[in-house]
Amino acid sequence: MLYGNNARNINNRTIPLSGNDNSEAIKPCSIPRHVMIIGGGVAGMEAARVAARRGHKVELYEQKGCLGGNLVAAGMPEFKKECHALVHWYGSELHELNVPVHLHSYIEEESILQSRADVVLIATGSTPVKQTIPGFHHTFSAETVLSGKKDPGKTVIVSGGGLVGCETALWLRNQGKQVILVEKQSQILPISRELSYSSTETLKRLLPEKGIVVKTDTVISHATAAGVILQSEGQTITQSADSIITAIGYQSNNSLYDNLKTELKEIYLLGDAKQVKNIMHAVRDAYDVASQI
Ligand SMILES: Cc1cc2nc3c(=O)[nH]c(=O)nc-3n(C[C@H](O)[C@H](O)[C@H](O)COP(=O)(O)OP(=O)(O)OC[C@H]3O[C@@H](n4cnc5c(N)ncnc54)[C@H](O)[C@@H]3O)c2cc1C
Repeated sequence: MLYGNNARNINNRTIPLSGNDNSEAIKPCSIPRHVMIIGGGVAGMEAARVAARRGHKVELYEQKGCLGGNLVAAGMPEFKKECHALVHWYGSELHELNVPVHLHSYIEEESILQSRADVVLIATGSTPVKQTIPGFHHTFSAETVLSGKKDPGKTVIVSGGGLVGCETALWLRNQGKQVILVEKQSQILPISRELSYSSTETLKRLLPEKGIVVKTDTVISHATAAGVILQSEGQTITQSADSIITAIGYQSNNSLYDNLKTELKEIYLLGDAKQVKNIMHAVRDAYDVASQI
């Protein structure tokens, strides 16, 4: 998915060049510097790989116990295994390049200032937009359910018909659950930045074919003892559900950058932390910054 025609063969290894057809192979840096990278998602990992390959002294910090960021949840459905393959690939690249990876390391402003790093790259990704349903308490984010932290039960409402909502709905349906997908707009996957036209059309066809109930022009209002109340084109529908899984979007985690940008001379924001988009954007953004520091 990431390699295509944009890969170069360097020392008998296939190196992705992030869609930069005209870019040169990774060039050594003129002065090796201490580069501190916060966030071990795909943006942080790509930045670490490129900066280390150029000869910088790189350290990568990740708050969780594993690398991958959102790719961990993204790769849970059987049809998305390549996301995990990508994380494994980065893991072995960083190991081979001797990049110290500090897991379970939540970084705050103070430790960045104390590190005295020459360059700081903030790749802290994004967090799901929260949705509260009055009267209903079994509401989980798609990531929480995809990563197995919560059991959503047998009948599930998925809120949000973007890529994450649609794929989560499909994944749950493949496990035999009854799934109702609710989208407030008039169609699911209305504008997909992540997917090609053919993948969008395939998903749109697959959902009803698999038995997922797709309700467009519908919003989740609240819940009563009778069930979850949906408002659809002037009508009120009561739908029983064990849980509601929210997939209504993501917002950038950019507070570390915002708080430090005037204090530090060389600090850059990468990937979803800069703008919530997709894997290709995060990789390209990280490659561009790490090639120039
Ligand atoms: C379920 C799901 C499916 C998706 N499917 C696709 C797809 O099919 N195709 C596609 O192109 N895109 C997909 N995406 C989007 C894609 O995963 C993201 O755009 C991409 O992973 C962003 O990478 P990132 O490194 O910028 O951020 P993230 O992946 O969010 O990584 C940020 C990392 O920073 C860490 N962090 C944050 N703050 C700190 C701190 N203070 N200290 C230390 N560590 C910190 C976090 O723990 C996290 O690991 C999907 C996303 C989701 C959630």
